[in-house]
Amino acid sequence: MSVLAITTIILICWIVFIIAWERISPYRKGLPFFREGFWVDLVWYTLIQSYFLKILIFNFIIPSIQSILHWHGFAFFKTWTIAEQVLFFLVTHDLYIYLFHRLQHSSKLLWRTHEAHHSGKQVDFMAGARSHVLEIIINQTIEFAPIVIMGAHPEVIPIKALLDAVQGMFIHANINVKLGKLKYFLNTPELHLWHHANYREVFHANFSTKFSVWDYLFGTVYDPGHKPGDNPENWGLYYEYPRDYFMQHAFSVKRFDEQALLKYKWFKHYYELRPNLMRWVKNLFRSKKSATIVQIHPTDASPAELIAADANENLISCGNN
Ligand SMILES: [Zn+2]
Ligand SMILES: [Zn+2]
Repeated sequence: MSVLAITTIILICWIVFIIAWERISPYRKGLPFFREGFWVDLVWYTLIQSYFLKILIFNFIIPSIQSILHWHGFAFFKTWTIAEQVLFFLVTHDLYIYLFHRLQHSSKLLWRTHEAHHSGKQVDFMAGARSHVLEIIINQTIEFAPIVIMGAHPEVIPIKALLDAVQGMFIHANINVKLGKLKYFLNTPELHLWHHANYREVFHANFSTKFSVWDYLFGTVYDPGHKPGDNPENWGLYYEYPRDYFMQHAFSVKRFDEQALLKYKWFKHYYELRPNLMRWVKNLFRSKKSATIVQIHPTDASPAELIAADANENLISCGNN
């Protein structure tokens, strides 16, 4: 079995595990699975954006850098084991991410590439995927180009990508977990969820991604020992932010009011396309269920079937209210 197949299986198992963990022990109680921005994060950021940026970074940007440099990497590097190489890139890249993330919070220009990541008010395991297209291009090029250019083993890439995804989901997950003394080294949901909270005290704190040790070393940790609160104003940005993927990117270039654009018929049509489609699918599902209920004739049905049909009918009438 290839390393890519193994990492994919581990990733799927981790997603299932984290979803179950969020249901069993939530940090914020009552956060729905289909939370605000769920479809934008899943369809646009996780699937479409990741797919195209992977092609752009690995098929165009990194080969272009390679052809300019004409370098075959460090010879000594090839004598390291894969585990040593992964550890080297894990630590060096995590330090870079800490520094760049800190810069994004202090530079007005770079904040435009990072505010999307903070825009969600309901943070869960998938919220980490919400990152501006430029932020991903910069960070993933700096992450993966050295692995290729320095001549590391090709298997380092899928292993590193798996670790990114695993820890990225973990620190954003809506789970109530205490790591004890390990929190001084490994980043936790508690610290990173605070980073997504809308409080002045934490705007310049908790920048770490994988290793929280950077925040402790550089004095930027914020760990008050209580939760940010459950109200929408306790989370995300303090200003209005577009809901649509393309509008979110346009907003990083020029500020505007997304709701004001609804006066344009074409925009209103596009903006309401997905909710209308979802409603149509839901209604289709409902009418199919109703049809099934009609087909049950009282004289043919068993008492259990009659009770089930009755319960379904009640559910449907409640849903329609
Ligand atoms: Zn941030
Ligand atoms: Zn985050």
